[in-house]
Amino acid sequence: MDIIDRFKKYVSFDTTSSETLRPGKASTDRQYVLAKEIEKELKEFKPDELEINKYGVVRAVFKPKGEDTLPRVALFVHMDTSPAAKGFDIKPKVIDYKGGDIELSKGIVMKASDYPYLKKSIGHKLIITDGTTLLGGDDKAGCSAVMDFLEKLPGHRLNHRTLEVHFTTDEEVGEDAKHVSMDKVKAKFGITVDGEDLEEINIETFNAFAMHVDIQGFNIHPGTAKGRMINANEVAEEFDMALPRFQRPEFTEGREGFYHLCNMTAAEEHASMDYIIRDHDYQKAKWMCELAQHAGKALNEKYGKGRVTVTITETYRNMIEKVNECPESVKMITDAFKSLNIPYSFVPVRGGTTGSQLSFMGLPTPNIGDGDFNPHGRFEYVDATQMALTSKVLAKMFED
Ligand SMILES: [Zn+2]
Repeated sequence: MDIIDRFKKYVSFDTTSSETLRPGKASTDRQYVLAKEIEKELKEFKPDELEINKYGVVRAVFKPKGEDTLPRVALFVHMDTSPAAKGFDIKPKVIDYKGGDIELSKGIVMKASDYPYLKKSIGHKLIITDGTTLLGGDDKAGCSAVMDFLEKLPGHRLNHRTLEVHFTTDEEVGEDAKHVSMDKVKAKFGITVDGEDLEEINIETFNAFAMHVDIQGFNIHPGTAKGRMINANEVAEEFDMALPRFQRPEFTEGREGFYHLCNMTAAEEHASMDYIIRDHDYQKAKWMCELAQHAGKALNEKYGKGRVTVTITETYRNMIEKVNECPESVKMITDAFKSLNIPYSFVPVRGGTTGSQLSFMGLPTPNIGDGDFNPHGRFEYVDATQMALTSKVLAKMFED
């Protein structure tokens, strides 16, 4: 099957995941529909093991043609799409991109000046939306590339290596690593195919913490409040001001970490705030957490014990320390890029990947891109030339 037709087929399935999780199953029933279809397609390649687990994760294992002498590797792609934008009734359109602005539909224009990396796709085939939905290239470009690679692989088997493939669910809501049947993962390392520019390899993610701040005020009639009222609104503001003002998402990039206030509810009597704390450097991230704890402590010294409670929990960690313990996982990728003459660079992800969880579950898992750009929004597009090249990179990686 042509990889673009395959991609169009996959995005015709609505697989939007949901922030409202369900115990013991995927967050939405619709993800199982594509899982069934993927299972059917994989079956044609005659895998040695094939199953869908209760979370809708499809797992296939292909034993090698010859002797099983090379380390087993697991590929991961996710079938769900982000709940951040409409993910059904998608109308993918293929264009030959010659540069400039793209009119997605009447009155909806993707401006080249807003998306400077569009320049890289001049001369390529692009798959775009009509500007009213996301495209679903995150991660159906990855699903298409892996399936295309398996289809073209002679005998659908590697020569000397067992290959595992996992089509996961609920990645967009941070659950997919937990949905994988880890007891059945026998690979030495994994690779996620879930990214943007194919030329950017990810072996680093943020270290991530979640911080909840609870503030108990003391409310009293404002007319008689002097010296007595503790206004939780004001204490919340004071706490926020105590954090470095310019260490926020809107002022940071590259390796600069941040505090991000996601939401707050506040009244005189009680306030609560939810933050995320992010940095690529674990020690620095820990120090940022300490600084926030200290702000809570200082406010308690000012307003009385127990007014401010700061609770910080670790969400995920930078996978680099685990990936570095398995250099062959990265070498396999870079060797393939080199022999195909594709330029590449290592770009630290300003977020987490499935690999940041898997790596700490014992499976070092770097990430490669697949040509999907502007994910999670109406201006998402897939550089189909890069997506097709991703399949070739996989073939090169596993040619031994
Ligand atoms: Zn993704």
